[in-house]
Order: sequence, then structure tokens, then C-alpha cells
Amino acid sequence: MNLVCLDLEGVLVPEIWVSFAEASGIGELKLTTRDIADYDALMKRRIAILREHAVTLSDIRRVAGAIRPLAGAKAFLDTLRARMQVVILSDTFSEFAAPLMAKLGWPTLFSNALVVDSSDMIQDYILRQRDGKRRAVQAFHSIGFDVIAAGDSYNDLSMLSEAKRGILFRAPEAIAREFPQFPLVTTYEALVEEIDRQVQPASR
Ligand SMILES: [Mg+2]
Repeated sequence: MNLVCLDLEGVLVPEIWVSFAEASGIGELKLTTRDIADYDALMKRRIAILREHAVTLSDIRRVAGAIRPLAGAKAFLDTLRARMQVVILSDTFSEFAAPLMAKLGWPTLFSNALVVDSSDMIQDYILRQRDGKRRAVQAFHSIGFDVIAAGDSYNDLSMLSEAKRGILFRAPEAIAREFPQFPLVTTYEALVEEIDRQVQPASR
């Protein structure tokens, strides 16, 4: 039985932090997992920048609410979900992602949570578990699924390695060069084809 695990930002929706950086004019917030491999270091940096600029969770939610999924993402997801189970594994926060999930037809999402104080300032974040993308793939394998995973960033590599098949989608050149074992595709059509190619015929 096959199950597809997809990254969210960069695969189905734009980078939420980048969109917020552009909307707010706080350029330093443009750094993402595509630039910094250490997620904890990246998040601590983001939270410090938000505090410096007195940005509240509501400010970010307002921007996130206006973001649209990437062109073709909803149709791609609908096509895939009609054929096999799909779970989105994301390092984003449920507080940001909800409006985008609505636009994608509420697919299953495993994400993280924020710690927000009484003045609506983000104080910290909670990872459900460390290396959660990899652990989710291991768990799906343990209950009888063959996982095919697709992502675009450093924080997807453990998920891609753990999966039976890993696929890079619109990954930066540096990542694609460093990890040639994963096929690289840049369109949803090619991604569907690649997933189909990886499906184990016997367990389809
Ligand atoms: Mg991503």
C-alpha cells in the first residue's frame, strides 16, 4: 500500500515567511530552510526579529490569510488524493497554515505549534517531536505503507532518505547537486509521473 508524504511550503504553497517578509518589508525574514539547514537556529532568529519589530501573531496571520497556493497545487493534490493517501508533513505552524489548508480542501497536515503570550507576541515554538518528518515516515512504514516522499529543502532530506522513494520538487540547485540520488522534478505533471513510476505495482 502506497502513501505519499509531501512537504508544504515550496511544494504546494509559497514560503509563508518569505511572503510575510515581503508584505512587512522586514527583509531579514526571507531566510528559510532553503538557506539555513539548522531549523532551531532559523526559528530562534525569526522569533528574535519579530520581537525587534514588535510583530504579533495576528500580523502574520493576516498576511498568511491572503496567500494563495502555488498555481496548479490544488488540482495536483486532488488528482493524487483520488489515487492514494496523501499526508502533508510540514515544519510550519498550524496557526499560520489553516487558511491555506482551507484553500487546498483540508488535506491531512502534520505540523508544529507556536507559543504565544498574552500580548499576541510569539515567544517560542513547539516541535511535536524532533526530526518529525523522518519519524512520521518510519511510523507509516511500521503500519504497512510504502512511503513516497517529495520536498524541496534541507529539512526534507531525512524524510526523503527514510522513504522507500524520495523525490526533490523545485529544489535549489545546491541541494539537487548534493543529493543526486533523488530525482528532481519541477512541474506537478512530472511529479505525478515520478510518483507513478515509484509506486510498487504489487502493492498498488
Ligand atoms: Mg519546503
